[in-house]
Amino acid sequence: MSDDDDLLELEEDDGVASESLRHSWRVLIVDDDEDVHASTTMAMSDAVILGRSLSFLHAHSACEGREVLAREVEIAVILLDVVMEESDSGLKLVKVIRDELHLDEVRIILRTGQPGYAPEADAVRDYDINDYKAKSDLTRNKLYASLTSAIRSYQQIHALNSSRRGLAMILDASSRLMAIQGMHDFAAGVITQLAALMQVAPEGLVCAQMQSKQGSADEADTPRVVAAAGHYRPMIDQPLSAVSEARIRDALVSCFAHRHSQFLQGATAIFFGSATGNDMAVFLDIDQPLDDINQRLLEVFCSNISACFDNVRLFQQLNASAYYDMLCAMPNRVALVGAIDQLRAEGLAPGKMVTVVDIDQFSEANHAFGHAYGDRLLKVFAQRLLDRFGGRAIAARLGGDTFALLGKESDVTPHQVALALREPLILDAHEVTVGVTLGLLRLEDTEGDGSSALTDATIALQAAKANGRGQYCYFSLSMVNEIRERVRLLDALRNAVDCERLTVVYQPQFELSTRRTVGVEALLRWRTDTGEYVAPDRFIPLAEHSGLIVGLGEWVLRSACLEACRLAHEGFPLRMAVNLSVVQFRDARFLSMLDAALADTAIDPKMLELEITESMAMKDTDFMTSQVRQLKKRGIAVAIDDFGTGFSSLAYLEQLPVDRLKIDKAFVARLTAENYPNSIAATVTQLARHLGLSVIAEGVETEAQYAWLSEMGVHEGQGWLIGKGMPAAELRAWLKTQPAQLG
Ligand code: C2E
Ligand code: CA
Ligand code: CA
Repeated sequence: MSDDDDLLELEEDDGVASESLRHSWRVLIVDDDEDVHASTTMAMSDAVILGRSLSFLHAHSACEGREVLAREVEIAVILLDVVMEESDSGLKLVKVIRDELHLDEVRIILRTGQPGYAPEADAVRDYDINDYKAKSDLTRNKLYASLTSAIRSYQQIHALNSSRRGLAMILDASSRLMAIQGMHDFAAGVITQLAALMQVAPEGLVCAQMQSKQGSADEADTPRVVAAAGHYRPMIDQPLSAVSEARIRDALVSCFAHRHSQFLQGATAIFFGSATGNDMAVFLDIDQPLDDINQRLLEVFCSNISACFDNVRLFQQLNASAYYDMLCAMPNRVALVGAIDQLRAEGLAPGKMVTVVDIDQFSEANHAFGHAYGDRLLKVFAQRLLDRFGGRAIAARLGGDTFALLGKESDVTPHQVALALREPLILDAHEVTVGVTLGLLRLEDTEGDGSSALTDATIALQAAKANGRGQYCYFSLSMVNEIRERVRLLDALRNAVDCERLTVVYQPQFELSTRRTVGVEALLRWRTDTGEYVAPDRFIPLAEHSGLIVGLGEWVLRSACLEACRLAHEGFPLRMAVNLSVVQFRDARFLSMLDAALADTAIDPKMLELEITESMAMKDTDFMTSQVRQLKKRGIAVAIDDFGTGFSSLAYLEQLPVDRLKIDKAFVARLTAENYPNSIAATVTQLARHLGLSVIAEGVETEAQYAWLSEMGVHEGQGWLIGKGMPAAELRAWLKTQPAQLG
């Protein structure tokens, strides 16, 4: 390496100096005449052409010439003898050079001893022969002129080809880099592409001057290593100041300072300016200084890459908003999913836990104090999670009032969460104590991806909520199976509705004093394709949960009303009891649905009795009272089902205008000869008498129960002793066999 390598000076010959690395032009002499070799080298020994001396390679036959050409690179000119082994050996070699070796840049000067052996004009054209000279013409001056024009031509072609190749690579690199969306990958891609372009091994290192997120000045000014290749890899993610090799650090620092590429001995630091101020610089370990073509290519590359770079920044910003919850200033669900996926990918999931934290009564607070208050509550709550769990766990907002912590099992326990929330939050200068319900998932307990892990943790949350607010619950596989089973059942139920596999059966209700049937209760039955019955206790809650009960209940009501009319017509004017679900009762269209059903079926509303459960009657008493009044206004009777299982307040019961209490079958089942006078059934009967209500007992299975209930003063009964639920046709036949019915 010469002295001027320190800070490379550009050679400016003809504006293009392609061979600045070599200090001579390589000229190959192919000639079988040893004298020609000697005289040519002697004549040109101290010639300088376009600033450089000449160096010679020698071959003494076309065959040897071919070997040299296959082996050596960057030969500028061939002085080629036409007549060697054969009269056209030289021309044949030209063909090989262009067509087989594909050496398009090398210039060829044909020489012949005999003027008669001049090549055809089209051979000169087809094989891109530069010059044709008789050996006698090649005096020193003429040879010099001839070589000069050939070398100039070679230099231009070579430069053109280099930049064309380089530009093609740059275009290719740009389109590749444009597709990369992460800063690390992008920087790594820049190293690879640069190394390919410069034809060096990818032993480089990339620095990006990142703008800090909060815009704090000190961080913004510290470039960090965002990608590195080869033995520089350990520097990734370090601040530039921590890079130990001074020449790298200095080159990059001066690159950022001057906002300009630095071409130094044995190394090059290339600057990529960014319109957004997020400049980037690449340090390349190149042991040769760059020639000016490469420098020019680098400039094109840099401006291209800067555009890509801004693109990546933009993408990252978009990305950031996709992974970040703006309101609570913390990672969002997508980010947490990614974090779990990463833990799994790195084999770090064992021992880690996701704790879903749901704020109790948030929607109530939101309704009562407004959305702005709700937002502030979420913010201070989020901040508390970040403060208390920040270092050891990831705190994220999953959406709404649901947050999640991801960390070591021992760090995100219910106890830890309780501790974190023991001190009240400060909101609008007031202390607010927040209750939470937790769903916990040990990552070991599931196998799916991050998203399914969050789903599982949420399942655990739902299970905890089912136990009441303030609870927590660990996820288990049985929960999923339960849910799967419910989903399967719900699908089947939907299907059953469509396929009319649901039927209504009617169970007699009788007067205890006469055994006469006075009414029937409509009960829903579901028979599956395989002929099994699914118990209503299993599918009714599901139908309620899914809202399916609204349509289903209307259908039961209409069927029951029609059946009641038909029976009355046939001489059996029986009271028709229909069960009502709370979901139906709360449905906004309930009353209009009821009126339409009454009108369409033309039932006398006095024949209809609606059963509401005790637990349902006791919730939201104002609403219930007004709703029951609406039923009474229409002449419909109301019974309270499963009485004794809820916690009725007597005062409330007194003012609720109902007609009948139904003693739950569990209390009937518990009756014995000894206990019946002091049983719950007896107490309910006394209560009913006190309130002026009628009483009916469910689940009468034995004559003994019948007798005890009669003695207590219960008016009516319902149970297998007299009759099970029967399809309408069967009921009709059965009624005809009942003598008491006739009397
Ligand atoms: P429920 O309203 O308390 O209905 C009485 C249940 O006791 C019925 O069970 C009936 O078959 C059963 N039963 C009657 N007599 C006896 C007896 O002597 N011994 C015993 N062990 N059981 C007896 P089912 O039909 O399985 O219905 C269960 C529950 O499903 C009903 O309890 C009711 O809450 C609900 N349900 C049934 N049909 C409907 C409907 O159309 N709509 C609504 N919302 N719920 C319904
Ligand atoms: Ca009932
Ligand atoms: Ca009941």
